[in-house]
Amino acid sequence: MGVERTLSIIKPDATTRNLTGQINAKFEAAGLRIVAQKRIQLTPAQAGQFYAVHAERPFYGELCDFMASAPVVTQVLEGEGAIAKNREVMGATNPADAAPGTIRAEFAQSVGENSVHGSDAPETAAEEIAFFFSGLELVG
Ligand code: UDP
Ligand code: MG
Repeated sequence: MGVERTLSIIKPDATTRNLTGQINAKFEAAGLRIVAQKRIQLTPAQAGQFYAVHAERPFYGELCDFMASAPVVTQVLEGEGAIAKNREVMGATNPADAAPGTIRAEFAQSVGENSVHGSDAPETAAEEIAFFFSGLELVG
């Protein structure tokens, strides 16, 4: 597997509750290094472009509005098997199913407002990193 990079987003429900530091501490404790990070406010159109894969799902409109409702913190996490490791640290999409100690178990408010996004495969990680960051912003 080797060293990988994955795209993480700390979502509006978490940034507004001032949880960025507590969430970052969980990444770092799991051996994930934050190699790029910025706080931005998405427009609904930008959120829609990022989540285009879900365009046909019933929750798409609500998801785009939520992601544009307040600032997000976008990040690139690096580490051994970073893509799967981050998914583990995040926990299941629905916080009711998330394992104890995971970010979503501790912080998420609902299946929609679930505090974090993480890429799910090498191809999506590369695409999602390029959506938010230029090569110059990835300093390792
Ligand atoms: N989502 C939702 N309702 C659902 C499923 C997903 O609002 O029934 C939202 C939720 O914020 C989730 C995002 O859509 O994180 C993307 O869904 P996905 O299935 O890719 O989950 P993830 O990869 O984030 O665990
Ligand atoms: Mg997903």
